[in-house]
Amino acid sequence: MSKKFDVLWTGGWDSTFRVIQLLLQGVDVKPHYICDPGRDSTTFEISAMHQIRNQLKNNPKVKGNLLPVNIVKFSDFEKYKDIEEAYIDLMKQHYLGEQYKWIADYCRHKNIESIDLSIVSVNSDHFFQQNYARKDYPFSVIFKNLNFPLINMSKNDMREWCVDNGFLPVIESSWFCHSPTRSGKPCGTCSPCIVAMAEGMGYRLPTKAKVRYHFRILPRLKNFLKNHPRFYVYLFKLK
Ligand SMILES: [Zn+2]
Repeated sequence: MSKKFDVLWTGGWDSTFRVIQLLLQGVDVKPHYICDPGRDSTTFEISAMHQIRNQLKNNPKVKGNLLPVNIVKFSDFEKYKDIEEAYIDLMKQHYLGEQYKWIADYCRHKNIESIDLSIVSVNSDHFFQQNYARKDYPFSVIFKNLNFPLINMSKNDMREWCVDNGFLPVIESSWFCHSPTRSGKPCGTCSPCIVAMAEGMGYRLPTKAKVRYHFRILPRLKNFLKNHPRFYVYLFKLK
């Protein structure tokens, strides 16, 4: 029996890269997709995953099996009090995206020992880099089952790897915008759009999105919150 890896697959660039990488190594991949109610991109991400799956089918380089994706909503899995408390305690030290808390809940609920999260160095800050592997509280509670295999890679490293191995058209079918426009185009102002621009992948954005990128406001508010974690904790508790 071949090895099986659990991977959080969003249909985006980084996690699609991880899926392809494992399949080429001959590892079976069990993808998990958690619907984020704060995003309008779910249908685009799911359709990207379908498209990518079809492109990988019958590719002789793909040695592992891509198992069916487990798609879940927030309401489908339990939320644990101790995980929430650890998250709040961690947030008192530094901002950390709420998705890490949900993923920790999900892993415990589904009994997943280790799940691959495709976080890359560019969108993880210094604090994250220094602390994600810590074994003490509160880090141990949040990061216990989370694995970050791509932490030292950039999108360009992945792009080069895909070019060398003939998977560029596959990874370019990935979806990256969190709040697509009504006509289904990338927005240019959400964080993955900003990362795409910053990492020299602006060619994946339409002109209108590039204009919006240069006039973006919301990400600045987010940066403010990242620099003022106590204020963020306050807002989090209000919800
Ligand atoms: Zn966007």
